[in-house]
Amino acid sequence: MAEVIDGKSVAEDVVRTVKTLTAELVAKGKAKPGLAVVIVGEDPASQVYVASKSRTAKECGFHSLQHTLPAETSEQALLKIIAELNADPAINGILVQLPVPAHIDAGKIIQAIAPQKDVDGFHFINVGKLGTGELDTAFVPCTPAGSMLLIERVRGKDLSGLNAVVVGRSNIVGKPMANLLLAANCTVTIAHSRTKDLPALARTADILVAAVGRPEMIKGDWVKPGATVIDVGINRIPAPEKGEGKSRLVGDVAYAEAAREAGAITPVPGGVGPMTIAMLMANTLASAYLAAGLKRPS
Ligand code: NDP
Repeated sequence: MAEVIDGKSVAEDVVRTVKTLTAELVAKGKAKPGLAVVIVGEDPASQVYVASKSRTAKECGFHSLQHTLPAETSEQALLKIIAELNADPAINGILVQLPVPAHIDAGKIIQAIAPQKDVDGFHFINVGKLGTGELDTAFVPCTPAGSMLLIERVRGKDLSGLNAVVVGRSNIVGKPMANLLLAANCTVTIAHSRTKDLPALARTADILVAAVGRPEMIKGDWVKPGATVIDVGINRIPAPEKGEGKSRLVGDVAYAEAAREAGAITPVPGGVGPMTIAMLMANTLASAYLAAGLKRPS
């Protein structure tokens, strides 16, 4: 049976370290890191995420600011708030919770965030830095950055000679994940909905990352014996066994069968999920260190 990679405990380690390094920054007479979270509209899932981000920021000792805006907020008004946050020296990280309402161009909003405060890592400058290996100053999107940390816990930092297959090519998970694995010297293949014979390709992977959004699509016999399996997917499916109308969370990997083949595997929930917020804190801390003229913590 595979080793279960405990993302919750790794995420707690990250938050603990961020808290310590925040205290050290403040002890040096520098301002505490500031994180501004902006949410437009009343999407319940987004509200839960935002509340959790603000709570963790406070736990880390950050200055935490939240803008909760009505769904009818105009693009212009949102751009104005971002410009103010860009200019505010007390703010090191700006996060606009996605999705935004349809009348707002999400791409335009992301590109309006100052790259040095883009702790989500979605601005073209940060995407370009990751793509060209400028990892000392890039902000890397939180979910793939967190997934990478979990891989490092199992395999170490240098992944030379290993084959990695990333299933999914989104800008927020698949592509940055592939770039991180490439930077760590993996031989990387990105698979997507047009890939031929995905099971055979998946079986070549020493590191298999699933970021698809399809419940339990990746089966046990797609997993190479001993592989490290990182399941990014979060899918809610009906769970009639728990009672009428009940549901449960599953990943993109059929966990029980994959765990019989894998060397190590992340569960859902409790794997990649908790890492995302932890890495947001780490990115905000890094931004504060850079703004204070200090080397960013590794
Ligand atoms: P997207 O929908 O943006 O991308 C999904 C990708 O999967 C696409 O590249 C798509 O291919 C590919 N795909 C879809 N169907 C298949 C298939 N049958 N075979 C092979 N590839 C397929 O999703 P995200 O990247 O945003 O998210 C992926 C998953 O990760 C979701 O479950 C999401 O909830 C979860 N997630 C979890 C986070 C966390 O904190 N743990 C954070 C972000 C996401 P194509 O490009 O060809 O359409």
